[in-house]
Order: sequence, then C-alpha cells, then structure tokens
Amino acid sequence: TLTTAFLGLGAMGTPMAAHLTRHAQANGGRSLVWNRTAARAEAHAQAYGSEQATPELLAEADVLFSCLPTSADLDEVLAALPALKRGAVWVDCTSGHPDAAPRQAAALAERGVAFLDAPVSGGTGGAESGQLTVMVGGPEADLERVRPLLDTFAGRVIRVGDTGAGFAVKAINNALLAVTLWATGEGLAVLGRSGVNLGAALDVINASSGRSNSSQNLIPARVLTREFPATFGLGLLAKDAGIALDMVNSTKSSAPMLAQTAGLMRAAANIIGSDVDHTAALQLIEQMNKVVIQ
Ligand code: NDP
Repeated sequence: TLTTAFLGLGAMGTPMAAHLTRHAQANGGRSLVWNRTAARAEAHAQAYGSEQATPELLAEADVLFSCLPTSADLDEVLAALPALKRGAVWVDCTSGHPDAAPRQAAALAERGVAFLDAPVSGGTGGAESGQLTVMVGGPEADLERVRPLLDTFAGRVIRVGDTGAGFAVKAINNALLAVTLWATGEGLAVLGRSGVNLGAALDVINASSGRSNSSQNLIPARVLTREFPATFGLGLLAKDAGIALDMVNSTKSSAPMLAQTAGLMRAAANIIGSDVDHTAALQLIEQMNKVVIQ
C-alpha cells in the first residue's frame, strides 16, 4: 500500500491533502498529514479521515507533499525531520524560490529522496475542485512516479524543465498577476476620479482588449464588492513578485516593469497588511488617489 504525507495544511494544503486522502481511501492507501500547529492536522483527520502524523511517522511515507509559505520554511521543516524513507519522492507545492530548489534536491538526494518543485495555480477554488495547474521542475522519471497523485488535485500537470523551473514559472506568473491587478486598479482610480461608473467601465474592459483575470474575476468579485475575501495573502503575492525580481537580477535581465511591480507589492503589503487578501493592494491605490474603487 502506498503511503502519502502532506505537510502544511493552510488555505491550499487543506483541500489538496483532502483529495489525496480520498484517493487513499479509494485505493487502500494511507494518507498522513502534518501541520506545525497540530490542531489543524487533528481537524483534518476529523473532517476527512486522514491520519495525523508525528515527524517520526513521516518516515513511512513513500511520497511527501509540502505547501508552505516560502522555501525558507521548507528548509526549517527538512532540517527538523528525523528520518525519511529511502526511495521516497518529495513534492514541494510551495511557491518557492528557484535558487532553493537545487540545494533542497541535493540535501534530499543525500537521504535517498528525490525532489520535485511543483507549485500550483488556480487558487483555493481550484484546490477545492481538484482543478489546479501544477508546474513541475525536475526529472521526468520522478514526475511519472507521482503523476497519479498530482492528478487527484490537478486539472493540468505540466513539466516545465529541470529542478527549479517550476518555481521560476510560478514566480513569473504571479508577477504578471500583480502587474494586471495593479495596472487595472490604477486605470479604475483614474476613471473613478473622472466620475465614470466603474462597474460599467469594467463591463467594457472585459469585452475589450484591456481584460485580464484581474479585471474579469478578481476586481468585480473582491474589490467592487468591498469584500476582499482573504484566500491568497498580499504578503504571499509580494513574496512572489520579489522572487521574480530576484530572477530578473540573477539572470541580468532588463525587466523594469517586473522590478517596479515587486516594489509596489512590497509597499502595499507593508502599508495595507500582509495577511489581507492580495486584491487589497488596490486600497493603496485608493489612498494615493483619494478615491474608492467601487
Ligand atoms: P497559508 O498561510 O494559508 O498556510 C501556510 C501553511 O504553512 C500553514 O499550514 C502554516 O502552519 C505552515 N507554515 C508556515 N510557516 C511554517 C514553518 N516555518 N514551518 C512549518 N510550517 C509552516 O498559505 P497558503 O496555503 O495560502 O499558501 C501556501 C503556498 O502556496 C504559498 O507559497 C503560496 O504562495 C502558495 N499559493 C497560494 C495560493 C492561494 O490562493 N492561497 C494559490 C497558489 C499558490 P501553521 O498552521 O502552523 O501556521
């Protein structure tokens, strides 16, 4: 029987682990869960029938998944784990740092464990419906070993390159999210100060060439409603834009718009807050313009 483990039962990890638990229940496998704050693992076991694991028990897992805020958090977890099963595969679904991946892969290889960077997109909704997109960096053969498990929470699994490539693609994707979110917010602030109805303006933009996921989905549902439901933290988006900026520098690229956006996201997280929803970044634009985007 196959034993999986999931470490990090946050907004994303909780529903992703639940899909793995259902898969285990249907296939006679075991689904272990671990969380730093143990109460969340206990609640997961209660709600879904997973098995709350001690760090020692994680040595029984054939495939381990993690979904933590940053690569530094994974470093902490890896350093504290007493034992791992030789031949296991570690699948890190964190939106991590491309520089961390080869180092983490090498450290795990010394313990006989393969490593895949496998960050995800699709948000908490995609995690709940099992329709995430997984972007994988690492050896093809290791990916094939875990693909049926990824399929439990993924609509698409795309191998994008060698170790670290998954983290790289994720950081750039989220930098683009930050660009469209911020730029659309600026445009709406200008229109608001011009006295234009912003709902009507968004209807036009969404039928026109200025549209994006930010204009079509995020801003109408989260900003215009003033709800800002916290499913993806602004601090996490600032972190992702910062990783993209690190990549700009480490590759000696010229990408001034991405660099600018990282600075804006950090400003928004510092001023508005890091635990609020990422769409609350537009509250900084509102302050800058003495206008409400509604
Ligand atoms: P959350 O803040 O909801 O959850 C974070 C989880 O990580 C918690 O289980 C927390 O444990 C744990 N954790 C934090 N620090 C440590 C540590 N040092 N050691 C051990 N465990 C730790 O985050 P999300 O689920 O929203 O995000 C997780 C990752 O997924 C991030 O990299 C994010 O960028 C990415 N992501 C998020 C999306 C979203 O829509 N939310 C979408 C796509 C990717 P505890 O309960 O103890 O605090």
